[in-house]
Amino acid sequence: MSAATSTAPATQARDQQIEDLLSRMTVEEKVGQMTQLTIDLILKDTEAATVDTAKLRQVLVNHHIGSILNVKGRAYTIDEWHTVLNAIHDVTDKTRLKIPVIYGIDAIHGNNYLAGTTLYPHNIGMAATRNPELVNRLAQITALETRAAGIPWNFDPVLDVGRQPLWPRFEETFGEDVFVVKTMGAAAIRGYEQNGKGPDFTVAACMKHFLGYSYPSTGKDRTPSYIPEQMLREVFLPPFKAAVEAGASTVMINSGEINGVPVHGSKYYLTQILRNELGFEGVAVSDWEDVIRLHTRHKVAATPKEAVRMAVEAGLDMSMVPTDYSFYDHLVALVKEGTISEDRINTSVRRILALKKKLGLFEQVRPKAALKTTIHKAEFDQVSLQSALESITLLKNNNQVLPLKKTSKIVVAGPTANTLAALHGSWSYIWQGTDETQYPTKAKTLVQGLVAEIGKNNVISRSVADFANAANYNVAQLKRDAAQAQAIVLCLGEKAYAESPGVIDDLDLEENQLALVRAAKETGKPVIIVLLEGRPRVLSSVEPLADAIVMAYRPATFGAAAISDVLFGDYNPDGVLPFTYPRFSGDVLTYDHKGTEIIREDIPNAAGNRGFNPQWPFGHGLSYTTFAFSDLRVDKTTFGNNDNLKVTVKVRNTGSKAGKKAVELYSHDQYASITPAARRLRAFSKVSLQPGEEKEVSFTISAKDLAFVNEAGKWVTEPGAFDLMVGDQKTVITLQ
Ligand code: BGC
Repeated sequence: MSAATSTAPATQARDQQIEDLLSRMTVEEKVGQMTQLTIDLILKDTEAATVDTAKLRQVLVNHHIGSILNVKGRAYTIDEWHTVLNAIHDVTDKTRLKIPVIYGIDAIHGNNYLAGTTLYPHNIGMAATRNPELVNRLAQITALETRAAGIPWNFDPVLDVGRQPLWPRFEETFGEDVFVVKTMGAAAIRGYEQNGKGPDFTVAACMKHFLGYSYPSTGKDRTPSYIPEQMLREVFLPPFKAAVEAGASTVMINSGEINGVPVHGSKYYLTQILRNELGFEGVAVSDWEDVIRLHTRHKVAATPKEAVRMAVEAGLDMSMVPTDYSFYDHLVALVKEGTISEDRINTSVRRILALKKKLGLFEQVRPKAALKTTIHKAEFDQVSLQSALESITLLKNNNQVLPLKKTSKIVVAGPTANTLAALHGSWSYIWQGTDETQYPTKAKTLVQGLVAEIGKNNVISRSVADFANAANYNVAQLKRDAAQAQAIVLCLGEKAYAESPGVIDDLDLEENQLALVRAAKETGKPVIIVLLEGRPRVLSSVEPLADAIVMAYRPATFGAAAISDVLFGDYNPDGVLPFTYPRFSGDVLTYDHKGTEIIREDIPNAAGNRGFNPQWPFGHGLSYTTFAFSDLRVDKTTFGNNDNLKVTVKVRNTGSKAGKKAVELYSHDQYASITPAARRLRAFSKVSLQPGEEKEVSFTISAKDLAFVNEAGKWVTEPGAFDLMVGDQKTVITLQ
């Protein structure tokens, strides 16, 4: 048996219909199934979204292509999607075996390539909600709207753990904590896959980007990462394991490399870990044009053909080529000359056909006209608004300057005040999210949202749409404006970007934004900063000048309404940070760093030895009410490896406003065989409390939940004492 044939998992079930089909397929037809091309190749007129039948025949008849992806230039209406997909299926119907094409798109925060669709906060904001039910619900809605368009495959969720804030895809992550990413990611998978509900409600989810994509050393997209095996297994792998268990059908491979090993050419990652360890049986697709890059970029394959051999032998099932037939041509040749066995490609084709069957494509591949009416429901808008509300994180609120009175007059300024793009971020109607003309009218800018909240006469807006110059505010003018107002709301942060175009060299907020804060402070009026940004941008030099700071991430369609509700007290904020907000660009550390980062008794005052000193810690988020924890207890103080432990705590709303509180259980291993983390999140839950109300919150954890990866790369729970912490409460338990 060649090394390549060993990629078939022993458990791969044989389905008679698929076996029959497979037995009738030529090598070319099989390789066609393993090839994914972009819509660009089949369009006649990009603007009109019309398909060229001759080009389509070239793709589907001459090359037997099994999958198409993407959108070109703009979001399509549902009718346009139906037309495009019907044109594809018309041609497939005339092919020898009539194998349905599987179409895939990136519906990352709502079906963002469907014109007019409501979008939801990016994952970074969804993580701040600490509400997996909302994540699950929005995935269900996205599945429904994507399927209604006739598209059964969604390249989402991103399960990369956000530990490198320079990385331009940080906003697509659920933040830095493994448990949050794992929990939210699995909730999204269940929402997309909708097992049991039937094809009209289901899309195939795609876990991405396997593995280690989010941790490039320089922070630049698609550049190398160096990740110790211990960290890889403890931090980056668990969300994928949880997603496989939640029923994910497909996976997309990391474009980059780990420790000098390009992932899409690695049998260790694609077969040993993905198949043998995680037991994943679904389809593994490459990312954009990556197979050839084993030759052109990574230089581990001497020729393009060698690159194809490497990727397929490593375990790849489908290549997102996406604009040429190089993968197809080389793979056909490799099989015909016997370098790659037909058995090996059968394994991949079986998986692809099984996916198509599972999605119901053999019975109904065409978009259903009846589903057109299931999209754009008012109820979906509510879910989006609720998500934005629950994500907004109040970072600072000196002297309770917030909430503002609705009778207040405010000055609104700053580069993110009057742009829809900054509210939405990447993957919003177009890839970069930057085309303001594509947003539906229900999406409002912050200025429009504030005007809707308190009326036109109470908003003095000096914002212009041009991001580069918008922060320039003549100080004299600002002073004149502020003289008529009770507060200044500065809308700062980042413009929209996706992937490599969003690369930055350091985390500091641009100088013109910092200057605006300094100018605002000079007016003597309260300064409120609203941050619209996909990653933490350092603002420590001006933080002391602000009276209040509100982090809104990328809250999307109803973001402006949600921020206005928070600023004026219609909603009591309950979001909490899903990452550690650094104080300095050069001092980025996650909350679960080694405990030894905190204490330097030896040189307590030396610059640079301040220890862990973030601007705001992971889990930080203020409220307009106050909460108190008490009575943290466990049902046993010593426990064994097979025991469950019940942890209970009381939480009371001690203020005068109703509010929600994210209750988080952390553990700390007092002594371990490798330096223990300062603390680790093990469970969370969100409670809603009226003023004066108290609730008990319980978590059940087991020894497994306290495990870590040891020096040998194995998950272990070592006997000994653990601190358990909730809020300011702490108790100690002993594992025997
Ligand atoms: C991204 C993927 C995405 C793919 C298809 C790539 O550039 O890295 O996340 O799914 O494009 O659009």
